[in-house]
Parts: sequence; structure tokens; C-alpha cells
Amino acid sequence: MAALAEMSLETASCLPRKGQVVLTNIETNNRCAYTNTCTNCYLNLVQSGTVTLPEDTIFEATTRLIKHGAEINHLVLSGKEPFESPELLMRIAHQYHSTPFGRRPASFGALSASVSGINHWLPRMPSTPLSWLAVSVDVDGSGLRAGDPFRVLNAAMKGRDAGGTEAVAVNTTFQESTLEAVAFVGESLRGKSIDQWTTSPLMLPVDGRMTSTATYSTTCRMIELASRLVDVASRVVVETELPFIRRMIGEDRWGKLDLHVWRIEVQLESGVWLFARSPAPGFFLRIRHDGALLSKEDFVNINLKIGSYGMYTDPTDIDLSMDQLRQEREMGGTHARLSTHERISGRRAA
Ligand code: SF4
Repeated sequence: MAALAEMSLETASCLPRKGQVVLTNIETNNRCAYTNTCTNCYLNLVQSGTVTLPEDTIFEATTRLIKHGAEINHLVLSGKEPFESPELLMRIAHQYHSTPFGRRPASFGALSASVSGINHWLPRMPSTPLSWLAVSVDVDGSGLRAGDPFRVLNAAMKGRDAGGTEAVAVNTTFQESTLEAVAFVGESLRGKSIDQWTTSPLMLPVDGRMTSTATYSTTCRMIELASRLVDVASRVVVETELPFIRRMIGEDRWGKLDLHVWRIEVQLESGVWLFARSPAPGFFLRIRHDGALLSKEDFVNINLKIGSYGMYTDPTDIDLSMDQLRQEREMGGTHARLSTHERISGRRAA
């Protein structure tokens, strides 16, 4: 999970209905086979909590989230490595698919780097498929994963052929020194029928926050390279920051954008899509493996002990978090966030 998990894949089969606006991430464990090789792993660098909730508790929290499906766009199993907890993944998949279409989140996706996990488990999911699976294919010099990165892509494609996922996306991080190698990855995807290729800036810690390493000129160069590769996937995306998008598209087009959405999307004339995180609060909830309920802002803060939405103790915490998210959206974030103390008092009073 090298990049932020927010830039999820949407396919024609999982377009959200009206009101499904929240992105939810669930950390199903704190394990990954590459922990010792990925020096730049986002999750290693944020050094999140050390305790991990029992699988039954994570399942309980996720089940309650699924019940809030009318508001949820993406239900994402984001790690640390979903296929390290395959029974939990299967239980969640079954729960998602046994919930009526009109009441569950619009899509159910996962981020993975596990060749063996995908090979073994994805073909066993044709009756409870993922909407999408995103795999990381990174380059030398990125500080991420050793070995042949295309093995994970091949495993994902075989799993898609077997019906275990509707779509496959590839995520590749970039920084100034790896641009040419990243473009080579893009070239290598041609003809593989990938649903989305997303390049995103490598994030590293600066002053206690995970921060993009890409300058404006590096981002422009990445976009230029991507514009020659728009045919390598159904959609080619460069993840960036809102001020950069504003500078690139000009004030006229900027003025027409709706910023109160979970993700800002702009397509350039070349066909390349630019994605950026919304500045508006109320669109993101991440359940960390230790139960911290994180906002989008929390997720870039290093060594955070407790989330803005508190710590998960029972399913009512999910209800309270969804209430807070709704209030934040309605109020544009102003004074909407309750303190943990207010949340706990509110729960006792209820
Ligand atoms: S594969 Fe992903 S989650 Fe695992 S250690 Fe590497 S960056 Fe982190």
C-alpha cells in the first residue's frame, strides 16, 4: 500500500447511486510479506498503532459499515494485506453480496501485493467477486517491493479471468528520479486489458505528515509521459494535488468544478485523467487495524494515537462516525467534528 488508497477504481458496473459519496477503507490486519523490503511503505512510515483488533471485531465493524451502504461509494479492504486474512476477506465478501444491491455500498474493492494470496484465493471468489482489485507495480528506486512486480499483475489477471474480480487496476508511484522507469511500466501494460493505470507521487514523511515528493514540474513531466500511454489501460490517471490541477486547467475551468465530492476528477485533452483528494471533510472514513477511526487528514499524520472519529469499541461507533461525516458534509466541515469526549457522552446518553 504505497499510495493513498483514496484513488479507487470505478467501473461501469459499480457506478454509485445518488447519495453514495463516502469512501471507506478497512485495515483487515497489520501484516504483509514485504514489510521488511518496502522501506517507503506508507503504512510503515505512518507507524500506526501496534495492537490489532480480533478478526471477529473487524468483521462486526465492517458489517455495520455495509449497513450504511446507502451513503458509501467504495468499501475498500486496504490492508495491510487483505489476502493475509483470507477467511476474513471471504466473510466480508459474502456479507457484501448477501446484502441487497440497493442497500450495500456501490463497490467492494481491495488493494493487494500478495502473489500467493491472489493466486490461491481470487479464483475461489466467482460467486462473491470483488468489484475491483488494485495491485502495486513499482520500479527500482521507489523503495517498494523487490522481485518481479509483474507477477502480482499476472496473478490478478488470472483471478479476473476466473471471475474473482470484475476489474483490475495497477498503481505505480513516481518521483523525479523514476519517471522514465515508470513510463516503461506503462509501456509494459499495453495489450494486457488493464482497467486502470494510476500513477501517484511517492509520499514521504515531512514534519510529521506524509507529503508528496512530486513538484509541479515533476507532475507535469509525468502527465506528459502518461499522455503518450493513454492506450495502455481503459483509463490512465495521474494523481496530484488540487493547486496543481488549478494551475494546469486555468481559472475558467476550475471555476466550474464541484469541490464538494469525495474526489476531484478532471480529464485533459490528451485523455489523461487527473485525480485529487477533495478538500471537503465528510467523505472519508478509515478503520485502522487497532480500531482508530480516521479522517482523511488523520491518515497523513504520523504516529497518530486516536482518530478524529474516536476508537472503535462497538458497532454504534460506526453509526456515530457516519453521523459525523454527514454533518461535516452538510456544514462544509465548519465546527462539525465532535470531540471524542462529546462522542462518548452522546453514546452514553443514547
Ligand atoms: S507491499 Fe504494500 S503494504 Fe506491503 S510493505 Fe510493501 S508498500 Fe507496505
